[in-house]
Amino acid sequence: MRPAILFPLFADTRSLAGVGPRLEKLIATVAGPRLKDLVFDLPVGVIDRSYRPKLIQAQEGRIATVTVNVLDHLAPRVKSQPYRVRCTDDTSAIELVFFHAHPDWLNKALPIGSQRIISGRIERFNNRLQMPHPDYVAAPGEDMPLHEPVYGLTEGLSGKVLGKAIRASLEKVPAMPEWLDPAFQKQRRWPPFADAIKKAHAPVHEDDLAPTTPERQRLAYDELLANQLALMLIRKQMRAANKGRELKGDGRLKSKVLAALQFTLTDAQQQAVAEIEADMASPTRMLRLLQGDVGSGKTVVAFLALLAAVEAGAQGALMAPTEILSRQHLAALEPLATAAGVKLALLTGREKGAPREALLQALADGEIDILIGTHALFSDDVAFKDLGLVVVDEQHRFGVHQRMTLQGKGAHVTDVLVMTATPIPRTLALTAYGDMDVSRLLGRPPGRQPIETRVLSSDRLGDVVERLRSAMAKGARAYWVCPLVEESEKVDLAAAEERAKELTATLGPKVGLVHGKMKPAERDAAMAKFKTGEISLLVATTVIEVGVDVPEATIMVVEHAERFGLAQLHQLRGRVGRGSGKSSCLLVWVPPLGETAKARLACLRDTDDGFVIAEEDLKLRGPGELLGTRQSGQLEFRMADIAVHGDLLAAARDDAGLILSRDPDLKSPRGEALRVLLYLFGRDEAVKYLRAG
Ligand code: ADP
Ligand code: MG
Repeated sequence: MRPAILFPLFADTRSLAGVGPRLEKLIATVAGPRLKDLVFDLPVGVIDRSYRPKLIQAQEGRIATVTVNVLDHLAPRVKSQPYRVRCTDDTSAIELVFFHAHPDWLNKALPIGSQRIISGRIERFNNRLQMPHPDYVAAPGEDMPLHEPVYGLTEGLSGKVLGKAIRASLEKVPAMPEWLDPAFQKQRRWPPFADAIKKAHAPVHEDDLAPTTPERQRLAYDELLANQLALMLIRKQMRAANKGRELKGDGRLKSKVLAALQFTLTDAQQQAVAEIEADMASPTRMLRLLQGDVGSGKTVVAFLALLAAVEAGAQGALMAPTEILSRQHLAALEPLATAAGVKLALLTGREKGAPREALLQALADGEIDILIGTHALFSDDVAFKDLGLVVVDEQHRFGVHQRMTLQGKGAHVTDVLVMTATPIPRTLALTAYGDMDVSRLLGRPPGRQPIETRVLSSDRLGDVVERLRSAMAKGARAYWVCPLVEESEKVDLAAAEERAKELTATLGPKVGLVHGKMKPAERDAAMAKFKTGEISLLVATTVIEVGVDVPEATIMVVEHAERFGLAQLHQLRGRVGRGSGKSSCLLVWVPPLGETAKARLACLRDTDDGFVIAEEDLKLRGPGELLGTRQSGQLEFRMADIAVHGDLLAAARDDAGLILSRDPDLKSPRGEALRVLLYLFGRDEAVKYLRAG
């Protein structure tokens, strides 16, 4: 139950005077449906009306507030002309200019002979001072804000109307019980919540909009604390409610696979395997994230985890985001599985009819040990005999709740390992995956050559093609990626087809094309030809972004590189440098090159450390985009900017841990206040995991 103290803030915006269905809708698009949403809609700018010159000194272009006498009204003779009101002070004259004016209103607001205070932007026209559409017209003694917050607006919603609604909502903010630790609050010199939110809406100077003011820091901290508390509560719940099972392997399959591997595991891989095995063997359920850059060797780690499940008598599932990747996993793991005597099978959307039926039967009978596939693995009619572990590969777009449904597939409680190739910055991992444990695979397997990365403008395309020609003559294999932007998929596809045609014309028949609109069989055929070397240049749309493993490929050309995100480019680059050959990546941009795109390309040229790139990406794009829109709901902080408030996040996490260790069900007075905090920031889902207070 929502605490009573919050009732006023959770009222619909329609409850405000002057807000009807039309305004309610507009307000909902910029802020949200409730008064609290208005309160959390912080200003993005400030208008300073404190400049009060005499007319003779009034500077053009500035917002000025001047006291004037109304001289006369000049109504337009034709409709297209503006209505003008002439005013003076004892130094000079100014014309107030109104297009589409209502004469009645003007006569009332600006009666001839009266004194008025007007505020707005000063302009000069034909050497005369003008003020088109003053923001304020007031009689002496009437209120006019000297400093006015500016809010993000939408078509049809004026700053005045929104400002008024926000002011009215702020009046409803009650004095909240304090949820911060008193000593911590004192040390930081942070105001109480109600004061902080009001102050945040009353900027006087640009500096007051900075995320580092005490009031904005406090609000950011509140939001992060709510986030961390909620994640910890959810995680505790998952572990407690679903007593896991002990999946303890005996190592007999593992030893066979290790013997069959062409390489030895790196220290990082061994450590990750050990963490995972310990987690699986413990009686609590595993919810673990395996973070590792492209090519860091996650697949074998995942396979060893799956083997541990099989050794313990259960089955495993490995889910990949695309069919290509699923097939590739199957191909890569088949020899290892054979060496261990383990039965693998593949299930994607393409398996149909009788073969699919047979496969499902074998799965239900437990004849299949490990099932690999796309999300088809989790269709309703797929039943495992005894699913012990689910591994989700390359999938950074899952939310907490989706992860929970995924685990429901096992008849028993299923352990979950999520692998992500997007190296998520520590701060972000904390907020997005705070409900999971994290293993990190730092570094890369030995024997890899660094990839030379060059950034070129498209007028060098001719050189690029020549370089390809000589490399191909020496037997090199290369990718050529054309961007695919969803809005104009057809156009982009045409561009890729066109490019393939041109390259075939210049470089000969060893050029192939793959794109997302191809039938899977055709696509696989093209990929297979590239793998065998029958094709040596593969023109592709971003379908190859995830996962493709052709160790012989040593050149990656990305056309329109400025259109790609950092993480995406990093992933693409990771497609080369997989074998022992020296590899290069050519990022070709087409002018004009914006500042952000420039920074992105420079970052890639200067480093290939995925974690460094991810931190940079966070700065350039913000968290929502970084994890993909589907998850951004979870990460859309309204007060906090985790690119700036990383230190507050760390503090909030420690704080949350301490709070829950002392008061696990939030029953103390401070705990009560923290419940209010959780509701205030929409973390209700966590409150239901508290035992009734
Ligand atoms: P990713 O983390 O991107 O999924 P993969 O698991 O596909 O990386 O591994 C990339 C390549 O590195 C594969 O060809 C794999 O066989 C190889 N590899 C993995 N671990 C090692 C290792 N310890 N030593 C050498 N090569 C390795
Ligand atoms: Mg992989």
